Amino acid sequence: MSATQTAQLMDGTGLAGRIVEEAAARAAQISQHTGTSPCLATVLVGEDPASVTYVRMKRARCAKAGIRSRHIALPAATTTAELIDTLAGLSDDPDVHGILLQHPCGPHIDERAAFEAIAPHKDVDGVTAHSFAAMSFGLPGFVSCTPGGIMRLLEAYDVDLTGRRAAVVGRSAILGKPVGMLLLARDATVTYCHSRTADLPDIIREADVVVAAVGRPRLIRGEDIKPGAVVIDAGYNRGNVGDVDFDAALTRARLITPVPGGVGPMTIAVLLAQTVDAAADQLGIEHH
Ligand code: NAP
Repeated sequence: MSATQTAQLMDGTGLAGRIVEEAAARAAQISQHTGTSPCLATVLVGEDPASVTYVRMKRARCAKAGIRSRHIALPAATTTAELIDTLAGLSDDPDVHGILLQHPCGPHIDERAAFEAIAPHKDVDGVTAHSFAAMSFGLPGFVSCTPGGIMRLLEAYDVDLTGRRAAVVGRSAILGKPVGMLLLARDATVTYCHSRTADLPDIIREADVVVAAVGRPRLIRGEDIKPGAVVIDAGYNRGNVGDVDFDAALTRARLITPVPGGVGPMTIAVLLAQTVDAAADQLGIEHH
């Protein structure tokens, strides 16, 4: 720890490890009771190297946790209608409990239409409108994995959100928007910021909790972090750089996620946990 560091690091790797262990134990129980292990279908359109790596990583984690995965690799020229057919087929297949459509799918695909072909009870990545509504209304359902992971991190570090000002920077359908909804559900006062936000530094200076979900290296300056704030950096930029100027933020924040090892590992952990939940539901096993 440097002389000026004040923040405690939020250990996503450690927490994710514990969540995956628990998911693995439940997956083993499910196979013992039903003779069927949880199965995640992964769908990839094209061969974008980053997407190939992400899917490989997710499948490897599944295998380690005793979750089967079935990979469907579609050619880059796949149309939206063909992709929807594939996803609808998986939605109807009783041997598949969860479905992950790796995105971005490519500019020629209507991604929203494709996501909506995933049956809500198999939407373990939390990408459908149904899941978003469930998150927003506080109804049972799957959460988007990265927002779900962020909330679990906040819980693990006993961050009291009631009445706190939270600034969410980024408003994507899978990250910024849902994490704002989950923070709101925990009684935070949420401000969404985006590329048209005029006074981002002013909003950050007031925030007790900052969630950075942009994809711009060090967009959030350390000097703008309110002393004692909780800083969650979901951003990932080349060279293991987050959206927050980590070194400077470290001297002002109370809690901060490192990049890597903060939010990243939590995303896959939530995916695995939700796949096991989906299998338990579909196979008629009681939740723990
Ligand atoms: P995205 O769809 O590209 O959305 C980025 C958001 O940032 C948009 O809402 C955009 O605003 C906003 N934005 C862009 N420039 C900005 C600026 N100068 N000031 C304020 N806001 C700005 O990205 P995403 O999929 O949400 O991902 C965001 C980041 O999280 C990326 O670095 C990604 O790699 C990372 N990520 C990490 C994980 C994980 O597992 N750790 C998972 C998913 C994503 P507009 O809406 O106005 O365009």
